[in-house]
Amino acid sequence: MKSFLVDQEGYYGEFGGAYVPEILHKCVEELQQTYLGVLESEEFRKEFEQLLRDYVGRPSPLYFSNRLSRQYGCKLYLKREDLNHTGAHKINNTIGQILLAKRMGKKRIIAETGAGQHGVATATVCALMDLECVVYMGKTDVERQHVNVEKMKMLGATVMPVTSGNMTLKDATNEAIRDWCCHPADTYYVIGSTVGPHPYPDMVARLQSVISEEIRKQLQEKEGRDYPDYLIACVGGGSNAAGTIYHYIDDERVKLVLAEAGGKGIDTGLTAATIQLGKTGIIHGSRTFVMQDEDGQIEEPYSISAGLDYPGIGPIHANLAAQKRATVLSVDDDEAIDAAFELTQLEGIIPALESAHALGVLKKVKFQPEDVVVLTVSGRGDKDIDTYLSKLKNRREK
Ligand SMILES: *Cc1c(COP(=O)(O)O)cnc(C)c1O
Repeated sequence: MKSFLVDQEGYYGEFGGAYVPEILHKCVEELQQTYLGVLESEEFRKEFEQLLRDYVGRPSPLYFSNRLSRQYGCKLYLKREDLNHTGAHKINNTIGQILLAKRMGKKRIIAETGAGQHGVATATVCALMDLECVVYMGKTDVERQHVNVEKMKMLGATVMPVTSGNMTLKDATNEAIRDWCCHPADTYYVIGSTVGPHPYPDMVARLQSVISEEIRKQLQEKEGRDYPDYLIACVGGGSNAAGTIYHYIDDERVKLVLAEAGGKGIDTGLTAATIQLGKTGIIHGSRTFVMQDEDGQIEEPYSISAGLDYPGIGPIHANLAAQKRATVLSVDDDEAIDAAFELTQLEGIIPALESAHALGVLKKVKFQPEDVVVLTVSGRGDKDIDTYLSKLKNRREK
């Protein structure tokens, strides 16, 4: 049977692979040969599960949203990744990868970050495990995301502002890769999403698959069946979405809906709708959809949400979209803001702007009253309060 999970060579259909410079071949190969054995070992699983439970606070609740269910005419459950320690799903992955790094004998952890969420999650786990931590971050983002920079420093990480290119995530990633090339023996590079060369997309998806594993158990308890009719999640690089769908990816009873950031609108040039607008290319070691111009130059993406404006997309999702296994909808800035206010007012939950894009999908799908829908709230909105407040002010003035 055809599977949407990774194949032996690290591909999802025509997407994925490991396109890395010569100097990194050994590092990437070492990871490829090590990760599965470690992730599947009894000893790793025990330590990982214990930290997810006692440190992160898992399982995260599957919350039946009464009022949103009524609003959208279905049975809507929210998977509450916003309640995790550090406020989002990212910590699931950083704990897993840093446990792996320790077992590989690495002493130094590096990471890239855009909005700072992955940087904070990495710095947190490095503090916990007493490891050196260096986080690359575009200078523009360092200025925009001041609070997260201070958090990383307080946690003991070194934040390296990157001044090449547009000084954002793509440039920070290039710089992290450069660092890895210089220190291949003692350094482990923690990638924060289902992107990068194989085995990263598969490894991150596996570490985040605790989300769908819990959904299965929780639905069985609440609905008497272990699968939903719909799964909905937002995609930046695709890690919370991959974790949400992992155990259902080959189960055709379950419809998959992915929300990407439309920005100001997909035909305005100010957008991050990579799946709809991107063309096949190679970015950060992986063959996938990339937002690029005629000459193959990467185009700077835009979204009101810092976690969604990546010019690529995880290869797993590129394949799901190309094979039409998943429906991909773009949700614009304004639609995401409306959805965030709606959740706040109806349920008393302030979502991250990224998660608000998943909520924006609810208006775009026609549900049946008996449909069981699970939507992942990937993070909490504390970090986005300034954006929300400025929109609130605009609303009052209108
Ligand atoms: C980083 C982030 C995302 C986007 O990353 P994915 O890898 O696509 O999940 C989404 N939501 C939140 C809250 C984030 O911090």
